[in-house]
Amino acid sequence: MLVPKPQLIPSADQVEALLKQTGALREGHFEFPTGFHSSHYFQMPLAMRYHDNARVLNVALSRLLRREPDVLAALPNCAIVAPAAGGIPVAFGIRAALNADQIFWAEKTEGRYHFRQYLDARGIKCILVDDIVRSGRVITEMLTLIKEAGAEVVAIGSLVQFKDAHIDTGGIPYYSLLNVETQFSSPGDCPSCKANVPIEKVWY
Ligand SMILES: [Zn+2]
Repeated sequence: MLVPKPQLIPSADQVEALLKQTGALREGHFEFPTGFHSSHYFQMPLAMRYHDNARVLNVALSRLLRREPDVLAALPNCAIVAPAAGGIPVAFGIRAALNADQIFWAEKTEGRYHFRQYLDARGIKCILVDDIVRSGRVITEMLTLIKEAGAEVVAIGSLVQFKDAHIDTGGIPYYSLLNVETQFSSPGDCPSCKANVPIEKVWY
């Protein structure tokens, strides 16, 4: 009898099921502060609040990142870097899975990302991670910030990526567990509005 091999990396469907089960991904009819409507709403911290789920997602992403020769070459003297609060639980999980030696993160103040501490990052090889990449703007800003700090990004990883994201990684490899087709419509153009689906206003 053939014994199926244990699946090392969950499929996109399994990741999606886990996100739905925890409320991190909801389907319905949502109005965003931008005025656009969508049938999907993500709140990734709802999945990451459970240690077992966070571990499944982070270990899976770490296995994708491990495929990158530059990642393997940089470890263990390597920093896992997150843009802001949402990426921090990903950074801690990826650090543990890859046995990297440090983590640091940026914070957004006055409209841009900064490293708040007096951090000497010169020469450090980094893996940039986040929970979800929507437009790609945050990743693009972080790549600039890390470069300005004198560090080098060897790979980028996110748990979820919107297919519409625009990211110029400059050739840096980028891995995600789930690529999501998201459609944002203006109210006059929204299929859910036309079908009279009750709408929920969301704040982010
Ligand atoms: Zn609508």
